[in-house]
Amino acid sequence: MVNKRKMQQHHDVLEDIKNPSRTRQQLPHWLQKQDLTEADLPYIHEMLAGSFVDWLEEVDGFPWLGGRMIMLHPDGNSIAAAGQADDEHSRFDSWNETDIGPNAASTALITCRPTLMRSEEHTHQELKGFDSIAVPIFTRTTGIPCAIVACLLPAGTAQAGDLKLLQAAALHIRTCIYRHFENLFVGGLLRERKLSKKEESRRDILFDVMRRLNDHIEVENVLSEVLDSLEQLYPICKADLFLSQDYNSPNEKVKPLAFHLNDMDLCKTAFVEGRIREERSAGRHQLALPLSGKQGVYGVLRLDLPESEFDEADISFLTMLAAATGAAFEKAKLHEQANVLVGELRLINELTQRLNSSLKLSETMQFATAELLSIFRSDFCCILQFDSSTQQFVVMSANVAEMIGESYSKEYGFCGVMWTTKEPIILSDYCSATPVSSHLMDVTKSRSLLASPLLLNGDVIGAVLITKREANHFSYDNYKLLQVLSAHLGLAMSNATLHAEVRRMVITDNLTGLFARHYLNERIGRKQIRDSSGSLIVVDIDHFKKINDTYGHQVGDDILIQVSGIIRTSIRDGDIAARWGGEELAIYLPLLGMEQTERVAERIRHRVESETNPQVTVSCGISEWRVSDDKVSVESLFYKADMALYEAKHQGRNCIVIG
Ligand code: GH3
Ligand code: MG
Ligand code: MG
Repeated sequence: MVNKRKMQQHHDVLEDIKNPSRTRQQLPHWLQKQDLTEADLPYIHEMLAGSFVDWLEEVDGFPWLGGRMIMLHPDGNSIAAAGQADDEHSRFDSWNETDIGPNAASTALITCRPTLMRSEEHTHQELKGFDSIAVPIFTRTTGIPCAIVACLLPAGTAQAGDLKLLQAAALHIRTCIYRHFENLFVGGLLRERKLSKKEESRRDILFDVMRRLNDHIEVENVLSEVLDSLEQLYPICKADLFLSQDYNSPNEKVKPLAFHLNDMDLCKTAFVEGRIREERSAGRHQLALPLSGKQGVYGVLRLDLPESEFDEADISFLTMLAAATGAAFEKAKLHEQANVLVGELRLINELTQRLNSSLKLSETMQFATAELLSIFRSDFCCILQFDSSTQQFVVMSANVAEMIGESYSKEYGFCGVMWTTKEPIILSDYCSATPVSSHLMDVTKSRSLLASPLLLNGDVIGAVLITKREANHFSYDNYKLLQVLSAHLGLAMSNATLHAEVRRMVITDNLTGLFARHYLNERIGRKQIRDSSGSLIVVDIDHFKKINDTYGHQVGDDILIQVSGIIRTSIRDGDIAARWGGEELAIYLPLLGMEQTERVAERIRHRVESETNPQVTVSCGISEWRVSDDKVSVESLFYKADMALYEAKHQGRNCIVIG
């Protein structure tokens, strides 16, 4: 049965040989045009051998030429053989002319014709007992001999028919060779096609990923995009992203690039050298791909997968993906930074406007405290001013009630550190690292701290401390922003302080420390609008000219200071004492009746008489106003007091007269 089928195949093959167009019709035209070239010949041994084996299988039952049949490569070396394998025949497995002299095979190769050579034509002794026949096999389009089939037959037995039979076999073998060739060719093509399909799909994916990466302007989205894409493309691969920058991602696969960890060597090298690094060990393949942008390397993408999973194309694909990620990350980061900068500028602008809109120190600092709490999403804030007279930091504003008004030595706590270094401080965890003890941190149970000195012309004029209960709250960007804000805060503090100082100077009399006359006028005027009554005492030193003349102006000044001191300590907090002019002083007593005012004046008169040295006396004129008066004015109040004073002088001085 098997033999019958084989015979049929043999018949079919012979039919093909007789009618080549029958086979060709079944093949695509372009494939028929493909052929071996001379350049292929050195590499076709395997294909020839395979074709010979196929042929042998197909021609099972071929009428053998009574001897051993050999297929030779054009270089004369045998590739395959069939038939008898006795020693005698096997000796001629190389039909190279240099080894065995001229023979049918070498001649067929030179003449490109089927050749029959009689034993007597052989020069080699060993071939003397044989006739040799050989037929070249030509390539189908280029017509160059790509193999030779040859046979040794007993001397004198070779017939023309044998040569014809060998020719038929050669044609059949050629068909087998081309079937092999086409299979190889098509197989190669298919492989290439498969590869290019894979490449194409990678390219599509890369393009798609790049497009999506570029769509994102937020760092977090870029990171998620690349990690999601990797998970889809290589589900068996474990991907981690290590970022070198101060960045907190909610994505658990995004971690900080920690150089001190042992298993990070590969990532470290990739990061430092800015190029892909690979490591294969224990059946694993690790890849570290740097995320590089134009301005630097931002991190490393680490992939861990079973070995042999990745080919070169995968690696070049991943390299491109990492480069695209680096660029997108940089773009998103720059965008984010630009946004932050715009936000910060707006903030600084608003803050400085607000800080400068009020010159009241406490108001300004309270506003700043509230702003800082919100800007840094912090829990506590405390602004201190350095008091150069006491050499202490005084809390100006804080959202910690028990700290308001407190003072600290310039060596104490974080303010102490900043007093010396003049540098800002960022502390991630006060519990694990306590460089100095801090009242604020202890009282508020805070762990994160951001602090900055307030500087003016290089001198520390204050400090700002911002804290959060949780550890690691403040970022480096926060630190830089506070530095900028502190410069404005320092200026605002200094402006408000200077303004307060100037105002104090303007309303204060230099010599006596009492208020100046214009301030007293102002205050009385305002009181007369709001209050229902008030009284005024005008105090004039008696014979003051004489004091000056006797003891000199210096002593006269001192007497003025002494009398002012007596007045200041003889009145209530709400009363206003001022230097009215020369050696005349005045006291306004809001809402005080005449009787009590007289008592105050009497106390002053008495104390001046008994406490001054050299001793002086004063005369006092008193006046009062009531809302029911016909005419209420500062001038009339003073006029009446002045008249009373005049009267007191007239009455002999050192006395009080009510106007
Ligand atoms: P009377 O009892 O009438 O008030 O006599 P008197 O000498 O105090 O009054 P008079 O108005 O004649 O003189 C006031 C003197 O006060 C004249 C001036 O030299 C002196 N005086 C005014 N301001 C100052 C000051 O700031 N320092 C000193 N040392 N003397 C002053
Ligand atoms: Mg006087
Ligand atoms: Mg006077």
